[in-house]
Amino acid sequence: MFTRLYIHIPFCQKKCPYCAFFSQEHTAESLSEYAGLLCTEMNLVAQNSASQHKLDSIYFGGGTPSLMNSRQLARLIEQAEQLFGLAAQAEITLEANPGTVDYHKLADFRRAGINRLSVGVQSFDDQMLATLGRIHTAQEAKKSFAAARQANFNNIGIDLINSLPGQTREMWQTDLEQALQLAPEHISVYGLTIEDDTRFAEQYTEGSMLLPDEDLSAEMFEAADDRLGSHGYEHYEIANYARPGFRSHHNSGYWHRDGYLGVGTGAHSYLRDTGYGTRFSNVANFDTYAQTLCKGKLPRIDISDLTREDAMAEYMFLGLRMSDGIVIKSFEKEFGMQLNDVYGQALDVLKFQQLLTTDPAAVRLTRRGMLLSNQVFRHFLP
Ligand code: SF4
Repeated sequence: MFTRLYIHIPFCQKKCPYCAFFSQEHTAESLSEYAGLLCTEMNLVAQNSASQHKLDSIYFGGGTPSLMNSRQLARLIEQAEQLFGLAAQAEITLEANPGTVDYHKLADFRRAGINRLSVGVQSFDDQMLATLGRIHTAQEAKKSFAAARQANFNNIGIDLINSLPGQTREMWQTDLEQALQLAPEHISVYGLTIEDDTRFAEQYTEGSMLLPDEDLSAEMFEAADDRLGSHGYEHYEIANYARPGFRSHHNSGYWHRDGYLGVGTGAHSYLRDTGYGTRFSNVANFDTYAQTLCKGKLPRIDISDLTREDAMAEYMFLGLRMSDGIVIKSFEKEFGMQLNDVYGQALDVLKFQQLLTTDPAAVRLTRRGMLLSNQVFRHFLP
């Protein structure tokens, strides 16, 4: 069972040197062929699914979903609605790269049913954007944002990245101020990580002088928390800030362990049909994906049924990502065990290290815990 649908669009105009996501170049034909394959995949899922709850959210992620045209997006939304049902107030998000959209395209997206945009601004500094290999300037990103407002989008998120090569504290503060001037409903803030098998991994080896050190990265995290918090943004998840009422429903579903179906090459899914649910991914190769679907089969790999221990660990490290934290009663209802009996020792250590706080109702990360979240999550691995 799933109530959320993720649609992966694996095409980009140009590969960014820091990005480890599966993406490839495209033509108008490959986009159109791919849209058809996504419909085939959804059809096959529907044929093989038991009863289904209506979808609460659809998320077009990538890659660069804004390379699709509005007819393709409308067709995919219609298909999803026909096959699975769509709640009246469903959130339908599209990730948009500022280098690929203008007012007319955005207005068409809005008419096609997209009601939330996630704009990949990344930085308002042209030098940083060039370092990141982005296809747009800061001015173009601002223009795209204004065009989205004009196209009647009243729920817009922007993504920013900090801890960039050569970035100073002052440069990051300027980025935050520029973000606040746009007044988006949602802001995601990621610290750059150097991923294996990327051009950045070759360019910036560990300890590179150009990369901000841990202290400066921590200061950037805290500056975002302070500045965005003082402007009414709730820091509701480690990397996400929202105006009240504008949290990402789709992404919140991941952290709450709602069932979701991912379609497209390399997409991940978590279905909650039996036991503690099943996770799997789709093959991350366009040709294999297409050939498998053409044979009437789903291109799923790495299928794993979660044990209770797996599910409890996920519950902890996904739930702790959110500022609401883990509601102790909910954990006990789901697993039939006392939280303290399972994780009492880990919780004591983390409380002592001031990475976590507990009260009778909930367990939450402290700000320091959010900053050092990977260190915290290791304590809950099965
Ligand atoms: S546009 Fe996004 S998905 Fe595509 S290469 Fe750049 S960062 Fe990766």
